[in-house]
Amino acid sequence: MVFGMPTIKASTLLNIGIAVFEAVGSPRYEAEIVSSSLVEADLAGVHSHGVMRIPYYVEHVREGLIKPGARVEIVRETSTTAIIDGGGGFGQVAGRRASEIAVSKALSHGISAVAVVNTGHIGRLGEYTLYIAENGMVGLGFCTTYRASVAPYGGRGRRLSTAPISIAAPSSRFPFLLDYATSIVAEGKLRLKYLSREPTPEAWIVDAQGRLSMDPSDFYERGGALLPFGGYKGYALAMAVEILSGILVGAGFPCSGCYKGMNSILLIALDPSVFVGRDVFVNDVSKYIEAMKSTPPAEGFLEVLVPGELEYRSREEKLKTGVPVEDEVWARIRRTIVELGLDLDRLLSEATPP
Ligand code: NAD
Repeated sequence: MVFGMPTIKASTLLNIGIAVFEAVGSPRYEAEIVSSSLVEADLAGVHSHGVMRIPYYVEHVREGLIKPGARVEIVRETSTTAIIDGGGGFGQVAGRRASEIAVSKALSHGISAVAVVNTGHIGRLGEYTLYIAENGMVGLGFCTTYRASVAPYGGRGRRLSTAPISIAAPSSRFPFLLDYATSIVAEGKLRLKYLSREPTPEAWIVDAQGRLSMDPSDFYERGGALLPFGGYKGYALAMAVEILSGILVGAGFPCSGCYKGMNSILLIALDPSVFVGRDVFVNDVSKYIEAMKSTPPAEGFLEVLVPGELEYRSREEKLKTGVPVEDEVWARIRRTIVELGLDLDRLLSEATPP
């Protein structure tokens, strides 16, 4: 057993996740997809969407918000589009299916748009655009989530979801990956601060009275709202994301009171073959990345980074060194394992010392 803040091998975390999700009713393939999605997020350094979600997903199953083993089916389809109903199951299963279909349709037709509705939390939106980029295409992703938690610019009530957006493109170094919430931070990051009882580094919240706040409990205990990033520009982008991945695909919008499911997404795949050509595209994106990286650093910076670079480096490093797991997150995971009657010591036997 490991106490304190442990660093755990990705393969051990993967096994823990698989065991937990099988214990709450997922078939093996589903447990593997969900667990690997969470571990990949931790490897990329996106801990807000990593194994910290395990206890929350178990709660969602208990509350009936996620149905293990749900049937994922295409409910509407053309040669370039599809709408997938996730059956109220784990979002990662429907999300992965959507990205595979998006790639296969774009391979045949140059472009595709595939939506997922009625599904649980899909995790990191970038997982799906990255899959499209790894298949040589440009991936665009938009996601609406069921909880209105963000205030419109100039407002103090919760109306928008954190509505993430992602765009990925292949290069010869590492994939370009834009992947972020249109709120000032993803809600999971605020939750990590709340759990560790830390203030936020700047005002991430507007409290119930409309004052800027750095205290996470103003959000979790006193009805405050997250701010959109970039003032009115982030607010506009959040609305655009919800129009594309909520209203357009038939899931609705979160503050309506009748949004369907926990997440809905729209993925668009563009094959460079029908534009500039795949080789030219990859070559030019690689040169473009180099152009950014060759910028002399500004005061206070060591280097210019390109979107996707931190995640790529983090994965390379953590595959070797293991994944650090916050104390509080680790305590919750351990409690979940014990509550489910799983053998904690056996699951941890591969853990590396901190
Ligand atoms: P973030 O603010 O950490 O931004 C991450 C993005 O910024 C990445 O593209 C990263 O490569 C880039 N980046 C970071 N530092 C950079 C630098 N110095 N130079 C250039 N680029 C840099 O992301 P976030 O808003 O906290 O979102 C985290 C994750 O949460 C995302 O994966 C998102 O998809 C996910 N999310 C999911 C849901 C859901 O309901 N499923 C909701 C919201 C967010």
